[in-house]
Amino acid sequence: MQYVSTRGLAPALGFGDILLTGLAPDGGLYVPATWPTLAPEVWAPGRPYGEVAVDVMFPFVEGSLSRDDLAAMVSEAYAGFDHPAVCPVVPLGDLHLLELFWGPTLAFKDIALQMVGRLFDHELRARGERATIVVATSGDTGSAAIDACVGRPTLDIVVLHPAGRVSEVQRRQMTTVHEPNVHNVAVEGTFDDCQDLVKALFADVAFREQVRLSAMNSINWARVMAQVVYYVTATAALGRCSFTVPSGNFGNIFAAWVAEQIGLPIDQLVIAANRNDILARWVASGSMVAEEVVPTVSPSMDIQVSSNHERLLFELSGRDGPATADLLGRFRSLGAVDAPRTNRFDAATIDDTTTLATIRRVHNEHGMLIDPHTAVGIAAALTQRRSLDVPMVAVATAHPAKFPDAVEQATGIRPALPARLADLLERDEHYDGLPNDISAVRAYVLARVT
Ligand SMILES: *Cc1c(COP(=O)(O)O)cnc(C)c1O
Repeated sequence: MQYVSTRGLAPALGFGDILLTGLAPDGGLYVPATWPTLAPEVWAPGRPYGEVAVDVMFPFVEGSLSRDDLAAMVSEAYAGFDHPAVCPVVPLGDLHLLELFWGPTLAFKDIALQMVGRLFDHELRARGERATIVVATSGDTGSAAIDACVGRPTLDIVVLHPAGRVSEVQRRQMTTVHEPNVHNVAVEGTFDDCQDLVKALFADVAFREQVRLSAMNSINWARVMAQVVYYVTATAALGRCSFTVPSGNFGNIFAAWVAEQIGLPIDQLVIAANRNDILARWVASGSMVAEEVVPTVSPSMDIQVSSNHERLLFELSGRDGPATADLLGRFRSLGAVDAPRTNRFDAATIDDTTTLATIRRVHNEHGMLIDPHTAVGIAAALTQRRSLDVPMVAVATAHPAKFPDAVEQATGIRPALPARLADLLERDEHYDGLPNDISAVRAYVLARVT
């Protein structure tokens, strides 16, 4: 399998190269040169998650990785999940929930990152190289990326989080990991400042090569690829169904769109947004208009520039790289553009009042605690569903204990952490503080990894 850039000016590369490169040199994102086709037997009922995962991912890595190596990574990646089905589908009244939070750090990002850490390690060992991962996080990505790098001597990871702006559970999931290759930094600034610092590091070509800088954020194609799998296993369990996905960077729901491209029968695809709803406004109007990010009770979706949306816009332009580059360039400079549209998605914007009311209602009616991101999805699923004859699957992206304040505010109950994390609030924390200053961050990374 070869990969091409959405901006059309970078050479086509194989999977191993695009894995380590992350962003293409022309500023675009990598996508497969052609979409493979899955045989319907792949989503036959009753197959174990790991077997389906190998069938779904192999066409995307073919030429870089053997099927046996892929299968070994898959079985290791998901062995540590707290649920034997890995991504179970459970009924919830008229809906179904696809639970994606049984991994080590309690959010769906583990499903992709547990694979990505192993894929990096394998590729770097084969090349006899090491890499430095630098990640900016508003909460969930940081801990999932750290967990993916623990015990891998080929990788160093530096995670920048905005000081005082992530929840205590989220911060402690990062800062209580004491490993020689894990470096946590609290930056005096916002999440956007952290993200700008990471972009500035990537833009410094000499530095980028010196430390072999790599990305594990959701622009990395391997993350999307690993997320396609659970749409296939959910369809195997329920037959043709619809999906509602709580969305921020558009990675998770783009994986559902990819599943459909490669043959999976899907009815509706619903984008669930909080008040940061650039995607829902695009579905309604065809315009992409960036607004100020407003903080919500579902902070992992407090995003106005959804990086993976570029992959879909590339497809909607007929895979026209220069047109995509022009569109994204105008969006960057003007903050608003008319973009190509599709009627493939439905979308809903859910405010905090409705989110909290949904958490409360699900608890009252079903005795189940759900996290605020999942609640946004459930509320959107209920308003957007067109047919009661087709199963509607709301994607549950985080464990309720990861967002205990919102759950307690809605229900009066503070959800307990799973036993393996029960002492999280007593563990020792280690992290460094840095100003929002690129030279300070550059010096810090150099001192830690060289
Ligand atoms: C990251 C995240 C999202 C948003 O997913 P995208 O792939 O960025 O659209 C939703 N919910 C939770 C809990 C997350 O951590």
